[in-house]
Amino acid sequence: MTSASPPGRIIVRAPNWLGDAALSLCAVRDVRKNFPEARIEVVARPWVADLYRAVREIDGVREASRFTDFVAAARGFDVAILLPNSFGSALQVVMARVPERWGYAGDGRRPLLTRKASVPPGVRSENETFRYRALLAGVGLRVSGALNLRLRCPDEWKARAAVLLAGNERWIGLNPGASFGCAKRWLPERYAEVGDALAARLSASVAIVGSAAERSLGESIAERMSVETRLLCGRTDLAELVGVLSSLCFFVTNDSGPMHVAAALDVPLVAIFGPTDWRETAPFSQRSRLVREPVECAPCKLRRCPIDHRCMKSVSVERVLGAADSLLSEIVRMEGVM
Ligand code: SF4
Repeated sequence: MTSASPPGRIIVRAPNWLGDAALSLCAVRDVRKNFPEARIEVVARPWVADLYRAVREIDGVREASRFTDFVAAARGFDVAILLPNSFGSALQVVMARVPERWGYAGDGRRPLLTRKASVPPGVRSENETFRYRALLAGVGLRVSGALNLRLRCPDEWKARAAVLLAGNERWIGLNPGASFGCAKRWLPERYAEVGDALAARLSASVAIVGSAAERSLGESIAERMSVETRLLCGRTDLAELVGVLSSLCFFVTNDSGPMHVAAALDVPLVAIFGPTDWRETAPFSQRSRLVREPVECAPCKLRRCPIDHRCMKSVSVERVLGAADSLLSEIVRMEGVM
């Protein structure tokens, strides 16, 4: 690549968390708009890689787990665009001999980058998607005015989800876990109550999603519920999870990766926030409602609550159902059906 010629091969290093990956989709599409002719690939951790396989602007997805995998995956590219801020992600593309390395200049990696961006003060406390856009703008790329974070579920993933959801047509989803830590979890008995109430209102069954580690949490909720539930914790890979989420008529969730994926799929949802910063990680969707109580210690961003978990305990079932009702009424008003 000379200074005059556009790059032929671009590798985008994906964020490590599912939620951040969902919020990066707009930036990835903007990379494509800047370089319509380039081969653009994404290198990602295995647990987020599939998300990028559903994005048609991307030509290929490489999975990497170890440091050396990332180095190997980046070899032969002209440009690396680094969405994570870590020193290690910059060092990997230096070791892969990628000539152009673009990213934020934090974490001591300024000398490793050939184009460096700084986080503008205005986006420091905003949704992560704005940080990714500001990164692109900061390294001299154009960013689109309209934010496109939409995710289209491939038909094959929907078909796999249909097997998991066989027997019923209409489903709401509950996502009571949060891999970051238990401080982000709303109370299981309240999830059960909300699940029963919403299932009755929407004539739906309830799917409980989550990881294998969250299975006992899911069981404790299912045991309390009176409507039909299907426990999917640990039974879905990412493609199936996307398929399940895209099949839901409503979703109730903690602040988590599945929340951002459901928002990208335009699934109506209520998100319950406690210790995390609602300005940075709110679901990016018009068809969402965020519920939180303004306790004085939030956002603490801790994995475990050091006091009495008042941020979550003070969120009542009535508030969550009220938010759901308000959103459902708005959807009916705007779209005529639910
Ligand atoms: S310290 Fe406050 S904000 Fe943090 S988890 Fe505990 S109650 Fe929630």
